[in-house]
Amino acid sequence: MEVITFSKLIADVMKYNPSEIEMVTKAYRYAEKNHLHQKRASDEDYITHPLAVAYTLSEMHADRNTLCAALLHDVIEEADVTKEDLQREFNEDVANLVDGVSKIDEITFASKREKRDANIRKLVTSMKEDPRILIIKLADRLHNMRTLHYKEEIKQKEKALETMEIYVPLAHYIGAFRLKCELEDLSLFYLKNDTYREVKNKINLAKEKNEEHLYEMVINLLQVLAKENIERDIKIRTKNIYSVYKELEEGQGIDDIHDLLALKIMVADIKNCYHSLGLVHNEYPPLNHHFKDYIALPKTNMYQSLHTTVFSPQERLVQAQIRTFAMDKIASFGLTAYWDINKGAAKKVMQEDLREKSQFFQALNELNATIVDNREFVDQAQAELFAENVYVYTSAGDIIQLPSGATPIDFAYKIGAEEGNNMILAIVNGQEVSFDYQLQNNDRVKIVTDKITEGPSQTWLDQAKTTSAKVKIKEYNKRNLRLQRKGVKMDTTNDD
Ligand code: MN
Repeated sequence: MEVITFSKLIADVMKYNPSEIEMVTKAYRYAEKNHLHQKRASDEDYITHPLAVAYTLSEMHADRNTLCAALLHDVIEEADVTKEDLQREFNEDVANLVDGVSKIDEITFASKREKRDANIRKLVTSMKEDPRILIIKLADRLHNMRTLHYKEEIKQKEKALETMEIYVPLAHYIGAFRLKCELEDLSLFYLKNDTYREVKNKINLAKEKNEEHLYEMVINLLQVLAKENIERDIKIRTKNIYSVYKELEEGQGIDDIHDLLALKIMVADIKNCYHSLGLVHNEYPPLNHHFKDYIALPKTNMYQSLHTTVFSPQERLVQAQIRTFAMDKIASFGLTAYWDINKGAAKKVMQEDLREKSQFFQALNELNATIVDNREFVDQAQAELFAENVYVYTSAGDIIQLPSGATPIDFAYKIGAEEGNNMILAIVNGQEVSFDYQLQNNDRVKIVTDKITEGPSQTWLDQAKTTSAKVKIKEYNKRNLRLQRKGVKMDTTNDD
């Protein structure tokens, strides 16, 4: 693997942020001095690690303070530097970022597990303070995973597992797709090496078999779109090894994975996405029922694109993904794309985006506010936020994200406390279902409420999967009991 030098980093930063070189240089010198004589497991100088982390971030066009913090990210933990030192030498923002990525290292932890839980909680909730902290941590983990072969096998497995359990879902939720895919593939490499190699071979063979006719399609479509004066770019994108592995695990054959290789068509605006879709269908007949409009109905992690599956001239199925250049940037980089799109205001835009669009972020905040104990928080976060999800629709067509195994009770309380407390009937795809029905992807769910109900029954507590629903049921019951004692007749409306 290529070692990142300081001049390589600076050359990269020069490309998009030449006026900030001075402070980045200062951060580099400061880190180098404080990590002097420290070595990595590879026997390289320690500074190669912060340099590599900073480089991953400069590739995303990170702002100056983020780059400085990346270079300095281990000086509190690994050298004798304090947060106050950094504030004095650099600025408050840099000091906060480095402090944010540093592990809590108090001697008060009774066990390793306790320390680990406290630090996972710190990592997961860091995006509340500043999403850039989480992004630095992801870049840090990426470099550690890329250099994991220097560690002993048991450490490799441990790190790879933790990466899959914690870092991959976090990368997913902020939409950092490139980071996520590389972390997944590296983890699979260490967790199931034979499988990794097998799947990689299969992908390469499929590529050899299909690349030629895919290129023919690319050339043809480039011409077709040019004739209509549509500004465009078309690339062939290959599914990452881990995603293919998962589909094979579910019993798919490699040839059945019709988006193994996909055509990525990028145009200037949304109007041209739909226009191009028509042109693609005019060239290649589409497969029925395989069209998805993630532009009108974006996925919950901000991904937007049109997906259609068409027959190639050789009668093979090929997926085409049509999106704008800006959507493509978000699809590859997620929140981190805002460094480039919004320059100085990126942090603010990232936070707004999380608050307004991320159901994960809302669920995370709720969990964080409800649970005090760190171990319980980590367990619940893994069960509810990081486990597989189901995506269902409201009758108005909004997508709701819930953990696998969620029931209409969870759905109702996700809509609001009143819907939950007053629910008398759950209708899924036009059919009444029981309250312990496990919601499936793409279910269309309608909750029928009535203000004169008994309110949530005690059995709902067992049938609900999410903490959020359970908390609201308990709150209702507590209030109900209090009012009964006072002899007040219960009104089931809830004002929160
Ligand atoms: Mn590090």
